Amino acid sequence: MEQNITNSLYHLKELNGNPFTLQKVAYWLYEYNDLYMEIKNYSENLCEPCQEWKADGFPYDCLQDADYCTKKYRYFTDFYKEVEYGVKIQELDTVCKVALEEYNIFNNDALLKDWLIKYFDIGYNKLAIFYYDHLDYSVNNDEVVHPHFGNSPIGEFGVCIDRKYYENLIDFDDVFKMLLYERKIYPEKLKEIEEEMQKIAIPMIPIPKID
Ligand SMILES: [Zn+2]
Repeated sequence: MEQNITNSLYHLKELNGNPFTLQKVAYWLYEYNDLYMEIKNYSENLCEPCQEWKADGFPYDCLQDADYCTKKYRYFTDFYKEVEYGVKIQELDTVCKVALEEYNIFNNDALLKDWLIKYFDIGYNKLAIFYYDHLDYSVNNDEVVHPHFGNSPIGEFGVCIDRKYYENLIDFDDVFKMLLYERKIYPEKLKEIEEEMQKIAIPMIPIPKID
């Protein structure tokens, strides 16, 4: 299993064109989906210490590198899921394109509010972490930044997928946030969000990224 994981990660590394094309990443996900499923199933059969902890009601988690622990390959499944997120979220680019076309012809607040309501789930729920977790790490504004979806646990490379596939999604995200937070087009929802935010403080810890 370990050898298959290593091979798959080196295969991905070979496909890297800095940035990756969407097609190559999708191909890799498809190619190694069986391996992902195999490891996922394997890690669901808890090892003995994990079972004991679970039975006692403790959070159970052996160290990932404990040799007996069935969760020891989670570094691969976690990475796979991050990469998969990158391809799945890109599917929203099409609907974001339509949304932007609508936005461009809406010229009053009532229509814009309907727009926010219509696309609230995408803008607020589905894309919530996209910008901060995958894009907002540029130090230089002139630099073209490609969205980043995980660092490979082996081989020292990260997965940046070409930004061109995400252009509508990125523009949509800008417009959505501007209407909601700056122009306050949907004030009652904004108030609700602010009240929620006060209840939970989310620590913002930047994740180091490798190109
Ligand atoms: Zn364990």
